[in-house]
Amino acid sequence: MADDLTDDALAGVRARFFPGAYPTLDIRPGWYSIVIDLDQALAAIDPDYQLVQVKEKFGGLRYYIEFEPDRPRPGFDDLIRAAEQRSERTCEECGSDGALAHRGSWARTLCAADAAASGFVPDASE
Ligand SMILES: [Zn+2]
Repeated sequence: MADDLTDDALAGVRARFFPGAYPTLDIRPGWYSIVIDLDQALAAIDPDYQLVQVKEKFGGLRYYIEFEPDRPRPGFDDLIRAAEQRSERTCEECGSDGALAHRGSWARTLCAADAAASGFVPDASE
């Protein structure tokens, strides 16, 4: 569950949305620490980077930043890709180990308990 420290860190992430963006993190609490860790790593490279959108899509995290061609930011793409890959192994609800699960055509990354609780069926393991 989100504590005060998490709330503060998430507020910091929301403050990065560029003016006009709708400043919502469209993800569940299990991924909050992924987003917070990623934000801190990106901010170490560019403290003023701006966010466009943060959401879940096809069961994985999507973290879209404002593209600024005049500001090269080495490492940004790799950090974002690593965080998105981490989300594919992390239950979006509770943050424990997760895997892709489906309910109809809807995909989410969930642990076995949260999948069962929400009617999702884990995909056959690789
Ligand atoms: Zn879970």
